[in-house]
Amino acid sequence: MSHLGRDPARHQGAVNIPLHRTSTIIFDSVSEIDAAKKARFDKGQVFYGRFGTPDVFAFEAAISELEGGYGTVAVPSGLAACVLPMVAFLKPGDHLLVTDAVYEPARTSISAFIARSGVEVTFYDPRIGDGIEALFRPNTKMVYLETPGSLTFELQDLPAICAVARAHGALTVCDNTWATAIFHRPLALGADIVVQAATKYIVGHSDAMLGLVTCEEAHYRALREAANWLGYRVSPDDVFLAARGLRTLAVRLRQHFETGLVLATWLETLPQVRRVIHPALPSHPDHAIWKRDFTGASGLFAVILDTDSMEKATAFIEDLELFGLGFSWGGFESLVLHGDPAHARTATEWTEEGILVRLHAGLENVGDLRADLARAILRVA
Ligand SMILES: *Cc1c(COP(=O)(O)O)cnc(C)c1O
Repeated sequence: MSHLGRDPARHQGAVNIPLHRTSTIIFDSVSEIDAAKKARFDKGQVFYGRFGTPDVFAFEAAISELEGGYGTVAVPSGLAACVLPMVAFLKPGDHLLVTDAVYEPARTSISAFIARSGVEVTFYDPRIGDGIEALFRPNTKMVYLETPGSLTFELQDLPAICAVARAHGALTVCDNTWATAIFHRPLALGADIVVQAATKYIVGHSDAMLGLVTCEEAHYRALREAANWLGYRVSPDDVFLAARGLRTLAVRLRQHFETGLVLATWLETLPQVRRVIHPALPSHPDHAIWKRDFTGASGLFAVILDTDSMEKATAFIEDLELFGLGFSWGGFESLVLHGDPAHARTATEWTEEGILVRLHAGLENVGDLRADLARAILRVA
């Protein structure tokens, strides 16, 4: 991570990737500009700003190496990354399978645009495993996975689902935002395409938004073309922040993992907490999959409070001082958010009593975070 995408020898020794703020690329001759036009979707080819600049290409190459893929397409947000493979590969009449625990804005985007363009969409139980075979139709072209789901944390049997999809000639796309390639490598486990919100752990400081789509060689050109014809272009400044975040990703994630697990383990012992949902805890229903497919956990997990009173849950959330109430996660700071899984799914039912509160363990002192939670949770009971 510390060296990926860098080549100081080409930049007079500068250790970081130099920025190229440019729309226009100047060519020496008509034959050169014509050759560039022909190759404009090739990896690393400069042509016109929207098609990518050397800084963006260097960062994309770093991510490809980290994920173990051929190429990466950077797009303006994580949500844009989720949807890009659908736009690139699906046409009216095709069938798309989507995990019921999918990131909620991606669900909305699929329902609002992908389904409206004539793609049949079926949501499936994230714990379906190879039972997904029963949902396949002759026109099933893609399976969209997210493991774990970023609100309810079900883990998917990714190798089993990908094997079924492959046998049926369908592409698999996996949202890997929660674990990042540091702890989970979907391409090595059988997925065709990995998408992620670099906004979260890669940027890591809550100061830029960026999405990434990484794939094998066979799918690269179609994704690159789709991103361009949709008009996507990423800012060199955002790529700079993401590349800077990448240099410390592994050490930050180790700390998020450690702090999150300390808090989760302790929260499990509290009378105000009905259940802690953290894949690295033995109590998690999919813990065996986590042990098999993941090498670590990030700092994002959930607790089910032992109360049905939104008033008490609100008092707990608002009493926290170090956990900010807001969307997103993956930055240096701790966050809290109340969730409502029952209204965010259609293939499965969420019947669990108690109020779900999602926590992001940031990089603050773990003792300070525990003290903050210990004080605020007294508002629950
Ligand atoms: C945040 C998030 C996204 C979307 O990323 P943005 O950069 O906010 O658009 C996609 N998937 C998951 C799992 C996320 O948590």
